Amino acid sequence: MRTITTNAQFDELYTDFQSTNAQIGFVPTMGALHEGHLSLLHRAKAENDLVVVSIFVNPTQFNDPKDLEKYPRTLEADARILEAAGCDLLYAPNVEEVYGGAMEKQRVDYGALTSILEGAKRPGHYDGVVQVVRRLFEIVRPHRGYFGKKDFQQVAIIREMVRREQIPVEIVPCELIRDESGLAMSSRNVLLSAESKQNALALVNTLRAMKERFPGASPKEVEEWGQAQLRNDPAVELEYLEVLDGLNFEQPEAWSDYQSPMALVAAFVGGVRLIDNLEFIVSEEA
Ligand code: AMP
Repeated sequence: MRTITTNAQFDELYTDFQSTNAQIGFVPTMGALHEGHLSLLHRAKAENDLVVVSIFVNPTQFNDPKDLEKYPRTLEADARILEAAGCDLLYAPNVEEVYGGAMEKQRVDYGALTSILEGAKRPGHYDGVVQVVRRLFEIVRPHRGYFGKKDFQQVAIIREMVRREQIPVEIVPCELIRDESGLAMSSRNVLLSAESKQNALALVNTLRAMKERFPGASPKEVEEWGQAQLRNDPAVELEYLEVLDGLNFEQPEAWSDYQSPMALVAAFVGGVRLIDNLEFIVSEEA
């Protein structure tokens, strides 16, 4: 595996890639790698000639400076993990290299996609996500970009950006990976105490119990039942828990109007903000 930090280094390699017509799979990350990230890498390896992973903690997508400061940074360990997993190229730029002093972000408005859930709770977050992914696509010029459904809303927004801006890249959504306890894997999980990790299982357990109640109770009933579970849990500070159609982010009244019913949740547990989601029809294990 080669590790590079500048765009000039990337441009030089890109010329070689082009001369062999290599298909490039790209996995953008913020590092502190875990099995969730590696599942994206494995899929990208299977579907491309070479895989580029980026590690860049993008300051423009953090709406809370404390969150940015606390974000785990483990570049050396990450590089070892990537090498062992067969990554071809690690691109680990600094802020200057990515933005060249032009960090000003534009407001992104894709209707409900950007205004509800994370869009409502983390103002400016998706403006920064769209800005950095657009920029990374410009630098890396991949054939395919791999994104985890752990960040379900993010994948939908990136797809919409690529569609609107006609960026020539295929967006590949990848399954959400959980640890053996059921907790959705996340770089932020290292910030949880053992007790908080246990308490955090309330999120996945509630989502699973909501799925059990589908389609016997209405979408609103299932949603309100789940919200009550988490509001009554003293270890959980709920931000949102909503049932919606994952295909268009709409919230019809009857299940018959849903194509991909699911629930998405965000909550603080032990001072750490966690998100999770569960699709009701596609099996989790699929
Ligand atoms: P991050 O480093 O958190 O920005 O994540 C980089 C990529 O890995 C994003 O596309 C995430 O959706 C994906 N990812 C993070 N955690 C998981 C997980 N548990 N399962 C699947 N993909 C994940």
